[in-house]
Amino acid sequence: MESVQHFSRLTTLVQDLKAKDTDPAVVGPVEVDRKKIESAVRLILEAIGEDPDREGLLETPDRVARMWTELAAGQVADPADQISCEFFESSAGVVLVKDIGFSSTCEHHLLPFVGQAHIAYLPREGRITGLSKLARVVDIAAARLQVQERLTAQISQALVDKLDPLGVIVMVQAEHTCMTVRGIKKPGSSTVTIDSRGCYKEDAALRAEILNLLSRH
Ligand SMILES: [Zn+2]
Repeated sequence: MESVQHFSRLTTLVQDLKAKDTDPAVVGPVEVDRKKIESAVRLILEAIGEDPDREGLLETPDRVARMWTELAAGQVADPADQISCEFFESSAGVVLVKDIGFSSTCEHHLLPFVGQAHIAYLPREGRITGLSKLARVVDIAAARLQVQERLTAQISQALVDKLDPLGVIVMVQAEHTCMTVRGIKKPGSSTVTIDSRGCYKEDAALRAEILNLLSRH
């Protein structure tokens, strides 16, 4: 791989994403057992000494139940379904998409963690997908109960499943509210997870080059 081509290609693709990424989000509400959530929320309110029937709380169980139709929208979806191999671009160098914002739910505390995913992949035989599709993969994988390591791996796996690229790196950076509003209470701390596949797993120099690009602001 020739690194000058690597870089000029990168610039082009990152610019393309900004121009084209106008597709609406695909993660819509899903059916959940709202009655069950409502009764669970009432129980929590009672358990902390609240009166679920006081005015300010009357609608809370219903609101929380509707909230879960969004937070769990990716629970049974396959992130890989968002990817199709739409283009064959024979000169395709590494494709890099940075700063895909997401919010997900920590399965240990049912609290949000919020951050950005950065994705880089090296296409095999020019097989690439629309750049906005990568953002949708992140949306689906995030809309379920997660731990950050698994979220990171599920994003790479979706690319591996559909594009079979020569290499993939996914870096996820997030602030976990379970670390900022409770427990050790360390606001501003962020957790970084990295999943590398193919040539980026095997070749330390290639991996270092991409990680350097992904972590640059
Ligand atoms: Zn947590």
